[in-house]
Amino acid sequence: MDERTIAVVTGGASGIGAACCRVLAAKGCHVVVLDIDLARAEAVAAEIGGSARRGDVGDEAALRATAAAIEAEIGPVAILVNSAGVLQPALRPTELSMKTWDHVVHIDQRGTYLAAVVFAEAMLRRRAGSIVNIASIAGSRAMPLHAYAPAKTAVIAITRCLAAEWGPAGIRVNSVSPGYTRTPALQDAIDKGERDVTNLVGSAPMGRLVEPGEIAEAVAFLASPQASAVTGIDLPVDCGWLAGTSWHSYGGFRDPGNGADA
Ligand code: NAD
Repeated sequence: MDERTIAVVTGGASGIGAACCRVLAAKGCHVVVLDIDLARAEAVAAEIGGSARRGDVGDEAALRATAAAIEAEIGPVAILVNSAGVLQPALRPTELSMKTWDHVVHIDQRGTYLAAVVFAEAMLRRRAGSIVNIASIAGSRAMPLHAYAPAKTAVIAITRCLAAEWGPAGIRVNSVSPGYTRTPALQDAIDKGERDVTNLVGSAPMGRLVEPGEIAEAVAFLASPQASAVTGIDLPVDCGWLAGTSWHSYGGFRDPGNGADA
């Protein structure tokens, strides 16, 4: 990616988004850290020599104004990474308030779609661009996360729909589905007792959490010209979690051995 490649990362002030900012900057992009938390966005931008903007993916009018200001003041946005998102506690449907449900869907599903559409308008005029949405392994399995998991399934579907819609205009749209990743959001849920780290890593064949930088490397690949024929895919980066979850029906993971008995 050349030095004038401008990348916007929503949710760029923390966790996976911040890691994407760091990796894209290291690969030569000018990164605009867009987040509802401006102070933390400015801290990440200062660290990587990028720019920071306050932006709320839940607010259409404000997001449109922010996107227009970025295009006018910084330059043409070539890459959009949609990492802004919120988690939820694993409550029963009868205990999960519709207020929480609406908020999770508003940010994780609607916010991802809205940011893609808002930033794609200028990409469509230029007939070039690359969008990477952060989905989740929760989008591919049933989980007791009755707002979050369907919203992430929708992010994978939105990715495919927009890839087909905008492919003729040269815009690629892909998603990355992180497994359980060591970020402030996950740590907060662990600290509150809403997630158990032993259970989380126990279903991953590699037996560990994913690091934010490992997600960011996959995002940077999909955003880059090296992935020029890749569009409409969902790439899990999950230490094997999606492959390994059914192993518990057969007694769990086992020592693969060293081949000496063969
Ligand atoms: P995080 O809380 O560390 O970072 C999320 C960032 O999004 C924060 O900086 C927050 O201020 C920002 N944000 C929240 N609402 C916003 C809004 N309305 N507009 C703009 N910015 C907003 O979380 P994270 O763990 O890095 O999660 C990032 C993404 O990765 C989310 O979409 C999440 O669903 C997804 N994900 C995380 C994990 C994990 O294990 N951490 C696993 C799968 C998917």
